[in-house]
Amino acid sequence: MGLHAEIVPQRRLFIDGDWVQPRQGKRIPIVNPTTEESVGDIPAATSEDVYAAVKAAKEALHRNNGKDWSKATGKHRATYLRAIAKRVAERKDELAKLESIDCGKPLDEAAWDMDDVSGCFEYYADLAEKLDERQYAPLELPMEQFKCNILRQPVGVVALITPWNYPLLMATWKVAPALAAGCTAILKPSEIASVTCLELASIAKEVGLPNGVLNVITGYGQEAGAPLASHQDVNKVAFTGSTDTGRSIMSAASQLIKPVTLELGGKSPIIVFEDADIDKAVEWAMFGAFWTNGQICSATSRLLLQESIADEFLKKIASWASSIKVSDPLEKDCRLGPLVSENQYKKVKEFVRVAQEEGATLVCGGKRPDHLSKGYFLAPTVLSNVKRDMQIWAEEVFGPVLAVSTFKTEEEAVLMANDTQYGLGGAVISKDDERCKRVSEALECGIVWINCSQPCFCQAPWGGNKRSGFGRELGEWGLENYLTVKQITRYISNDDWGWYPKPSKL
Ligand code: NAD
Repeated sequence: MGLHAEIVPQRRLFIDGDWVQPRQGKRIPIVNPTTEESVGDIPAATSEDVYAAVKAAKEALHRNNGKDWSKATGKHRATYLRAIAKRVAERKDELAKLESIDCGKPLDEAAWDMDDVSGCFEYYADLAEKLDERQYAPLELPMEQFKCNILRQPVGVVALITPWNYPLLMATWKVAPALAAGCTAILKPSEIASVTCLELASIAKEVGLPNGVLNVITGYGQEAGAPLASHQDVNKVAFTGSTDTGRSIMSAASQLIKPVTLELGGKSPIIVFEDADIDKAVEWAMFGAFWTNGQICSATSRLLLQESIADEFLKKIASWASSIKVSDPLEKDCRLGPLVSENQYKKVKEFVRVAQEEGATLVCGGKRPDHLSKGYFLAPTVLSNVKRDMQIWAEEVFGPVLAVSTFKTEEEAVLMANDTQYGLGGAVISKDDERCKRVSEALECGIVWINCSQPCFCQAPWGGNKRSGFGRELGEWGLENYLTVKQITRYISNDDWGWYPKPSKL
């Protein structure tokens, strides 16, 4: 067992409020991507465990006629969400450290994630309380004999399947609104980074969340994720991950006409116009590509530079990117850690190799920094002279790799930005407000940043268009994902309806 093994808790699956051994007794090693050593293991659930978790969630939904959870007031459920938020805040340092060890993100970023996790539970506690006031909202109808009210009810048992790049935060984006809405949930985090999600289970137990309301089952996609997504008692699947997995989840769900929300991959553009403040633009371009070790769905990994500033910009970004602190994510002021796994490391290096083979120029990076002898580290990498038919321009890399191309006019920039199968995010950097507005409207995506890239707030909707998926998480939209809307229409007139003439002898 490697360094830090002593601080990684040994956990079982969390089903029906209890820690249970996976039925087949299998476990998956946790590999610290900095040291390439195992620091523990997580349970590997299989279909038998999935069935137990779904059964527990279904029972929790209906226990005490639903009065314990699904039909309780939002205010009641909010007390649990606030208790979870508080406990996450109290355990922030420890959870952040676990996250860094498990997935390699710099400790400062992981600490920020924990603030966001806690903030997100608080935010949905507020929305749960407000939900009570919105129940039975009256709806105006064109016929006065009728009165209509709108009731919002939980969709039921939900499967929440999440990726490894923001292990606890991506889980929270789903767990918090699902519980606020009154759903009961089965969370299936990524087998590559599940440690903090199991700690969320321990927090749920600690704060006394009713049994079965949140179940956490760790395991492989095929063995645990697939039977969960296709289970007939799961009323909805909320998924964040790759486009390929999204496709198979959607096709499994379609067999049961089961709703899904899909937050998938991206290849988002950042457009820098010649009137931009170059230093500021360089920093945002780096943040957009290297934050989260470049493993972020919304990374603005395609940089479009207006021709007149390209040379100056590339010189600056080469020297600035080369000075970024790449180190063990637990080291003070680390700004770039290792990629999450050996597989991911190989995949990203292959993207860089193919890009060069196809004619792109390596401006900086492209290999493990010389001062590091092991770990899945890749120095911040910038590739210029990228053409629109190259793989590096079209496909999601999910690593600290920025592909750069140039444009002459605004029209050309928008065309190039939208020439992608994805549609998650986009950024525009310019001092001209009118231009920023025009470009924001023209970008075919769900999130636009002006004069920045990546900041994300739980109050604002998050999600994409095209092959980046559909549905929106966060904000009010996040809560609506887990609610079903019911109209209740009442006949209030004392008069007979009078459509069928009464038979004369009635
Ligand atoms: P992935 O698709 O490999 O795995 C995501 C989750 O799906 C994991 O929990 C995995 O075990 C599970 N899974 C795999 N196969 C499954 C199946 N057949 N049925 C059910 N579940 C299955 O993705 P990843 O490698 O963990 O994450 C990286 C991807 O996630 C990238 O493409 C990235 O763009 C995307 N992502 C998107 C967002 C967003 O908000 N749009 C956010 C983060 C990551």
